[in-house]
Amino acid sequence: MITASPTCIFCRIIAGEAPAETLFRDSFVTAFQDIHPVAPVHVLLVPNRHLESVNQATLEDEAMLGRLFTVARQIASDLGIAESGYRLIINTGRDGGQVVPHLHVHLIGGRRMRHPMG
Ligand code: AMP
Ligand code: ZN
Repeated sequence: MITASPTCIFCRIIAGEAPAETLFRDSFVTAFQDIHPVAPVHVLLVPNRHLESVNQATLEDEAMLGRLFTVARQIASDLGIAESGYRLIINTGRDGGQVVPHLHVHLIGGRRMRHPMG
């Protein structure tokens, strides 16, 4: 099982080898500020284990996948946007607009989101 990729920027952040403003860390996930925020709140939540995208997720990843959501909910609450609302985005693959090939959830809020998506 691949646990870390030496060339992956998110694996390097998780390993403490690249800088990031970390908000949360447990055995499953790490959350840190996006370096190019598109909204007043823009946090990335990533599995500590290197997983390229949702396409690589297996049954064994279900606890981690669930944790991504409960941590996102907690961070949204801590940052004061739980009531005003927010958007969780998981870009997957080329057509999904995924740039960094390490599964991540964008937590975006603090302003009204635009419609339609995409
Ligand atoms: P995606 O298009 O879904 O792959 O989004 C990748 C996100 O990672 C973008 O929002 C980038 O701004 C963000 N990002 C890339 N490198 C870093 C980094 N070193 N620290 C924090 N965020 C990053
Ligand atoms: Zn990685």
